[in-house]
Amino acid sequence: MFEATLRWATSAVGGATGLAVGGAVHPTRSARSAAAHISVHADEFIAAGASYPLYALGVIRRVLLVLLVGSCGAPPPLSPPQATEQGVMRAHFIDVGQGDATLLEFPCGAVLVDTGGEQNAELDSDALLVAYLDRFFAGRPDLRSTLSALVLSHPHADHTHGVGAVLERYAVKAFVDDGLTTGSGRAGVAAVRAFAAAHPGTRLREVSNDDIGPEGMTDDVIDPVRCDGVDPHLTALWGRVPVDPGWKSDAHGRSSFENANNHSVVLRVDFGRASFLLTGDLEVAAQEAMVAKYGRGRMLDVDVLKVAHHGSYNGTTEALLAASTPEVAVIPMGPSERRHAFTAWKFGHPRRVAVERLARAVRRRRPPLDVEVADGVSAFSALRLDAAVYATGWDGTVIVEANANGELAVRTSRGKLND
Ligand SMILES: [Zn+2]
Repeated sequence: MFEATLRWATSAVGGATGLAVGGAVHPTRSARSAAAHISVHADEFIAAGASYPLYALGVIRRVLLVLLVGSCGAPPPLSPPQATEQGVMRAHFIDVGQGDATLLEFPCGAVLVDTGGEQNAELDSDALLVAYLDRFFAGRPDLRSTLSALVLSHPHADHTHGVGAVLERYAVKAFVDDGLTTGSGRAGVAAVRAFAAAHPGTRLREVSNDDIGPEGMTDDVIDPVRCDGVDPHLTALWGRVPVDPGWKSDAHGRSSFENANNHSVVLRVDFGRASFLLTGDLEVAAQEAMVAKYGRGRMLDVDVLKVAHHGSYNGTTEALLAASTPEVAVIPMGPSERRHAFTAWKFGHPRRVAVERLARAVRRRRPPLDVEVADGVSAFSALRLDAAVYATGWDGTVIVEANANGELAVRTSRGKLND
């Protein structure tokens, strides 16, 4: 029997001490520090339910639901929560193997960012993605099987493979991508353009860095969701770089500018005091340029970091971690057991250096877990992890729930966590 889990991410520093950054309380964190002490453990949070009765009841209901709906077999599905509360959003990091597919669920809409992922004799990511979205929409009939927007970070197959399957099955009101139309995932971006051409009124926004100012860029295509109460804000912080800024080659001597990963759409999501950063597959050159552009101010500072490039050695820079100061990190990459081309095993995702860097950086803990990390391509070894670094390869689908006070809860579809 599959055992689903609910884990409130526990603070590494404790709410009562505040959340210090470089010796000073960070301005965007100080506002929520007062609430942190009641949210760092589930029992404490529920005990504080008098202050948040609907939210606490929703949590209890979902725990019971997830425990009830589990089924046997692998990979274990995590049924999306059935209830929605005003003042709550969820980021569903859907297990599509090696690839990205992040569903952003809001009180009044949903946005899908990428449609990974892994395709081989053992896994059909399209089937996993559609099955998950079917269950999600079944639990959210108010959304009428409609995505307010589909965002494609960049045209690689592990991010765009499922576009056709999504367009066949659900309504999509708008599209956002980086405007690149070549690469292993070009069929996905071509499908988006064919769909838009065939459906007049469909909006398509190609995000170019030339259009992004110091506060990022947003409009009603990038941020199509308008909710009463807590209204989410979606902002593009990065996109296609039109002219080579003179980037150095990568560690393998390849052009950083010619690498589509460095043109990934980067999306910031704000929901009340909660914040997420979705980084596509941005590598070192672009991460450093993005940090140079925004600095350590509020634009890059977030609670939850979707780790870039599947936890690759080149996807997690110290500069980005210093700027983003995440409390929780999530790596989408699939497990190391499937030994085919274009898998986490073949690429060596996630790399030990990246996971250890993330573990030092994130501010919350998780129950100790023994995981497999890559020392190189097709070479893995064990690591004991107790920092709030989650990964689809270890955890299956990961759902990070946030309320408007910035309180976070993490649930995973696998019962491998040790209490
Ligand atoms: Zn990728």
